[in-house]
Amino acid sequence: MFDSELEAEGAGRTRRIFLASAAVTLGGLALWSWKKSRVVEVVAAAGVPREVTIVLFDDAGNRLKTVRVNKIVKTDAEWRKELSANAFDITRRADTEMAFSGKYWNLHEAGTFRCICCENALFSAETKFDSGTGWPSFWAPLAAENVTEIRDSTFGMVRTAVSCTQCDAHLGHVFDDGPEPTHLRYCMNSAALRFVKRS
Ligand SMILES: [Zn+2]
Repeated sequence: MFDSELEAEGAGRTRRIFLASAAVTLGGLALWSWKKSRVVEVVAAAGVPREVTIVLFDDAGNRLKTVRVNKIVKTDAEWRKELSANAFDITRRADTEMAFSGKYWNLHEAGTFRCICCENALFSAETKFDSGTGWPSFWAPLAAENVTEIRDSTFGMVRTAVSCTQCDAHLGHVFDDGPEPTHLRYCMNSAALRFVKRS
């Protein structure tokens, strides 16, 4: 191969690399604005009405039975009617409430935390612990079936997003720096939960 051909090939490769990286940059900018809601949308896209398995609990936190239910699918307009603006942004748009701003991070009563959107039983106060983060934190869900964990790479971080199995509400994230016995920390948004006090 002649030098000139090598040069031409080298230049071509350089240009291709430049174009590819420019495309990535432009694509990245375009993606940025809707990335926040991507977690929820990906789940919704895959969630054409179908059955899911969840475990039912009474308000005292007693496990009742495992059931197959239709996934709850509603339009944004329907969710907006049922939820506060804050709860809508968090559960349907994967937003995060400000630390120490929610109503449950400092709650220490016995009871059950249900999904604000669909009443699915999610966490027990028995697994709640003081994480010091300003978000209600649990070391385990009531039932593994009731929450769905999804890899979330928004905001340049790789995290595991946690959503409600029955309605796909975004709840928060789970990290592996929790206490015994699971070493997990389910870092939830208060606004995604409804606390039912044990009577
Ligand atoms: Zn739900």
